[in-house]
Amino acid sequence: MDRSSLPRGGTTPDTAARRKLVEKKTGVKLKHTSSHSFEPESASRNVENFIGVTQIPLGIAGPLRVRGEYARGDFFIPLATTEAALVATINRGCSVVTESGGALVRVIKDAMTRAPVFRTEGIEHGILVSEWVSGNFRKLQAVTRSTTKHGRLLSAATSMAGKTLFVRFSFSTGDAMGMNMATIASQKMCDLIELETGAKTISVSGNMCVDKKPSALNFIEGRGKTVLAEALIPERIVKTKLHSTSTEIVDTSIRKNMTGSAMSLSYGFNSHFANMAAAMFIATGQDAAQVVEASMGLSLAEKTDGGLYMSVRLPALEVGTVGGGTSLPTQAEALRMIGCSGSGYAVKLAEIMGSVILSGELSTLAAQSKGELAAAHARMAR
Ligand code: NAP
Repeated sequence: MDRSSLPRGGTTPDTAARRKLVEKKTGVKLKHTSSHSFEPESASRNVENFIGVTQIPLGIAGPLRVRGEYARGDFFIPLATTEAALVATINRGCSVVTESGGALVRVIKDAMTRAPVFRTEGIEHGILVSEWVSGNFRKLQAVTRSTTKHGRLLSAATSMAGKTLFVRFSFSTGDAMGMNMATIASQKMCDLIELETGAKTISVSGNMCVDKKPSALNFIEGRGKTVLAEALIPERIVKTKLHSTSTEIVDTSIRKNMTGSAMSLSYGFNSHFANMAAAMFIATGQDAAQVVEASMGLSLAEKTDGGLYMSVRLPALEVGTVGGGTSLPTQAEALRMIGCSGSGYAVKLAEIMGSVILSGELSTLAAQSKGELAAAHARMAR
C-alpha cells in the first residue's frame, strides 16, 4: 500500500477516512476493530494512524493476599490474555498463597536507565570524558531537573571500548515507568557532554540501557523495579490444593528452573514469568515490549519443616501508574481495580505484580511436578 495516501492526524473524521481507505484497499470490513467506547483523541499520545482497537479478553484471578510495604490486603487481579489455562493456573496459585497467609513482597531497587553511546578520539580522550562525567555529576543532575519535575539523576556509570564510550544514566522516575523521561533528560545531558568534552553523541540509546532486549546487565544490576516475593505453603495445602508434594515441586524446580535454564544459558530461571507479566502489562497499560525484561529472573523452591518455601526474584520489572498507556480507559479501570491508578502507586503496582508472578509460578510448577501441563491445556484450549 502507498503509505503517503494514509490520511494523518488523530481526529474522528481522519480516523473514519483512514479506516475506509484500509477497508477499501484490503477488502476487510473492520466491524470489531471500529467498535470502541473512547474517542480517538484520547489515544493520540499512544498511537499514530489510529483506526480502532484490538480487543483482548480480560479475566480475573484472586483474591490474592499481598503483604507489601504499599500493597496490603486482598486484591482481584486483572489479566488480559488469549492463552487458555493461564488465568486458571494463576487463580489457583492466588488461592494457595492467600490461604497460606499471603505473599510477602518488597521492591529493593528502583531505577530506570538510559545509556547514550559517544564516539571519542581514542582511549586517552575517552578517559578524559569519563572523568568529566564523574567530576560534573551535579551539573548533569541540574540538567535532568530542567527537563522533568519527577525525574532525578541517581548515577552515571561510564564504560569504554576503543573509541566508543557509554554513559549509563540511572534515574528515579516517580510513578512513571520513566523511559520517555529518562530519554529526554539523557539527550540534554548528551548535548552538554558534547559541548564540554568534544565527544560525539552517536545515539541517545546505546544498547547498554538495556531496553527491550534480554541482557545479563539488567539481570545483575536491575532496571526499573527489582522485586522479591515469597510465600510459605503448608504441606497440607500443597497436597490438597496443588495435588503435589513439596519434595516433588523442589525437585522439578531444581531440574527445570535451575538446571534446564543453566543448560540453555537462559536468563529465565523460572517457569513462566513472562505469562503473568504480559497479562498484567496489557491489562494495565504498561509497555508490552518490556515483558522481555520482566521474563528474566529466578524462581526458587525450598523444602522446609512445615512445607514449601517459594520465592521469586524479578530483577527488572519496568512499570508505572502514570504515563504510557496507563490512562487509556480500560487500562485505567484495571489499575483502579487494584487501587493503583495515578500518582503514588508505582511501587504498590510492582508489589502486586511480584505477588501475582509468585502465585503463577507456584501453580505451574506444581502442575508440572505432576505431569499436568499438557493435560490442562488440552482440556481448556481444545
Ligand atoms: P511519560 O508519559 O512520557 O511521562 C510521564 C509524565 O507524567 C511526565 O510528563 C511527568 O512529568 C508526569 N508525571 C505526573 N505525575 C507524575 C508522577 N507522580 N511520577 C512521575 N511522573 C509524573 O511516561 P514515561 O514513563 O516517561 O515513558 C513511558 C512511555 O515511554 C511509554 O509510552 C513507553 O512505551 C515509551 N517508551 C519510550 C522510549 C523512548 O526511547 N523514548 C523507550 C521505551 C518506551 P515530569 O516529567 O515533569 O515530572
